[in-house]
Amino acid sequence: MIELSAHDHSFCIERVLSDAKAICAEKGVRLTDQRQAVLRILAASHVPASAYDILNQLNKERKEKGEAMLAPVSIYRALDFLLQHGIIHRIESRNAYVACNESPNGHHSHGEATIFLLCDQCGRAAEFQSESLGGLIETIADKARFSPNAPVMEIRGLCEECQKLQSDA
Ligand SMILES: [Zn+2]
Ligand SMILES: [Zn+2]
Repeated sequence: MIELSAHDHSFCIERVLSDAKAICAEKGVRLTDQRQAVLRILAASHVPASAYDILNQLNKERKEKGEAMLAPVSIYRALDFLLQHGIIHRIESRNAYVACNESPNGHHSHGEATIFLLCDQCGRAAEFQSESLGGLIETIADKARFSPNAPVMEIRGLCEECQKLQSDA
């Protein structure tokens, strides 16, 4: 669980990167520089970023260093890799991506549902796991003889900070 209030992101970035390295080592896949660069951008913020946000930011950094520009396809490839290994999540309602912040090792337990609380004002996303919601979804799916994928729920609203700002205004 992450806090919605402002905090030092250097800790988040280091944790997300070391978790990702551990996952890749365990699966025998490579966290290439490009994949790592994409992940670093996602881990630096709890506001989900689109593929173009990531592309623009990386190309800005590369331009400053005099390096060749990246094409969108390389960002999509890196995102696909990170999604496939459970290192990041896609926020469907925003067509954006966020680093997985819930579990200490990036593994979601089977039978749990993932819930994202999405703030309409500041854009932040907070990730939670729920066994009881996962169980409820399984019961409903069973009745319909439906085989669900790992369920993800996106709930929009206002975070604590934005509620305070609104009541102060
Ligand atoms: Zn997650
Ligand atoms: Zn907010």
